[in-house]
Amino acid sequence: MLPVFFDSMVELITRTSTDLPPDVRAAMRTALATEDASSRAGQAITIIAQNIDQAASCEGPICQDTGMPTFEVKVPVGANQIWLKKQIREAVAEATRRGKLRPNSVDSITGQNSGDNLGPGTPIVHFEQWEAPHIEVRLILKGGGCENTNAQYSLPAELDHLGRADRTLEGVRKCILHAVWKAQGKGCGPGAVGVCIGGDRTSGYLHAKEQLFRTLDDANPDPRLAALEEEVLDEANRLTVGPMGFSGKTTLIGCKVGALNRLPASFFVSIAYDCWAFRRLGVNLDAGSGAITSWMYRDESPSQPMLSPEAVAAGFPRTGREIPLRAPISEEDVRALKVGDVVLVSGRVYTGRDAVHAHLMKHEPPVDLHGAVLYHCGPVVAKEGDGWRITAAGPTTSIREEPYQAEILERYGVRVVIGKGGMGAKTLAGLKESGAVYLNGIGGAAQFYARCIERVDGVSLTEFGTPEAMWHLEVRDFPAIVTMDAHGNSLHKDVEVESGKVLATLSSPGV
Ligand code: SF4
Repeated sequence: MLPVFFDSMVELITRTSTDLPPDVRAAMRTALATEDASSRAGQAITIIAQNIDQAASCEGPICQDTGMPTFEVKVPVGANQIWLKKQIREAVAEATRRGKLRPNSVDSITGQNSGDNLGPGTPIVHFEQWEAPHIEVRLILKGGGCENTNAQYSLPAELDHLGRADRTLEGVRKCILHAVWKAQGKGCGPGAVGVCIGGDRTSGYLHAKEQLFRTLDDANPDPRLAALEEEVLDEANRLTVGPMGFSGKTTLIGCKVGALNRLPASFFVSIAYDCWAFRRLGVNLDAGSGAITSWMYRDESPSQPMLSPEAVAAGFPRTGREIPLRAPISEEDVRALKVGDVVLVSGRVYTGRDAVHAHLMKHEPPVDLHGAVLYHCGPVVAKEGDGWRITAAGPTTSIREEPYQAEILERYGVRVVIGKGGMGAKTLAGLKESGAVYLNGIGGAAQFYARCIERVDGVSLTEFGTPEAMWHLEVRDFPAIVTMDAHGNSLHKDVEVESGKVLATLSSPGV
């Protein structure tokens, strides 16, 4: 059997999780140059750029959500696919042990995390035979936040702001723009979309995800689809949704469209949304040894840094207007904050995401949450002696906690919630009622935020698994933006309304 295939797979997973490919870096460099550095969008992109460089230099996960590992494998006729799949699964478990992947595989019925990223359906491995003599393995790591913003349309359909989408390329254009607008900041934009026109519901989503294996700078061989891709990219960047949904000029960094035949009765448009942490790499392997002979999507040289080492070391780009907040936080301090303020949080922060929120609806919290900061985050954690070290800790998508958040604020006196993508009307009303604010961190900036954590002081609710446990963190100068305040204001609502008006102007092509 191939003696170094396992090592090659561990290397592929490690690089994919820690080092963005050159085409994505180039698109993010353009975004960096496009956004005004002192704007919210500019600050967000600068943090993202620092995070990309930090992840590559320390070989740490770019984002704490290392996503659903999806392998596309091409093998010569006669290759033993059963053995190769077993090796890939073992490599996934090893990369998880090494902290390059977060344990992300959860039993859908019991909620139990398998701890090693293995379980029914995880990882995803697709095989295809080909005539070439070597093996090709491509890998994409796509996180939950952006996966949740995928969309599938059945045409004809009536779309907000855009009117009727017919069974035409013009209807497809409307669907893609609608999906990008709906995503707002929830999928950690600027994002990229893979699109499938046609197929059935299952093959459509699969083919849409396959489009994400194309480089951002390639040209579609079908001139009709190439024109559509260009048009959508241009129009989406006029929407003003911007990085992280903060409003800005860069909303989309790529649009890749494929088509499958369909049944006469069906016309699906399936859209796979990927975030700026667009982790995709591949390798060509010697079919005798399993050794890597070449990389796909990247050359052998070290990645071109996003920023100078000085700019990375400088940390958060301050303007002097930042407001320091130290936990525990008083109601008075919280009510003084307004949408748009940039704050630097220090002191004790507790993580809590889906399992913690569900738990707190039925049980008292394991710690006193009065005046506390609750961080929507599922970190990557390494055990060190008797303690722990957080190796990746960016915010997760907050909207999932919408059914619980307002009640938790009221019951336990939480003053600050940190997350990303914003929350809904119920939470906005709860913030006002209870005297609390929502701070938007920069989604995916896992290395950047890990460096704001001075130490881990404890952990509760470990029965929920590492990402879902409640970690007690001591943080210093953790930057975030007030996007929902205690006076009923929401930047997310405002950006959605304003970008909706722009979307309405795009209801006809070529406007
Ligand atoms: S960057 Fe955002 S959407 Fe992407 S994997 Fe990370 S948290 Fe999820």
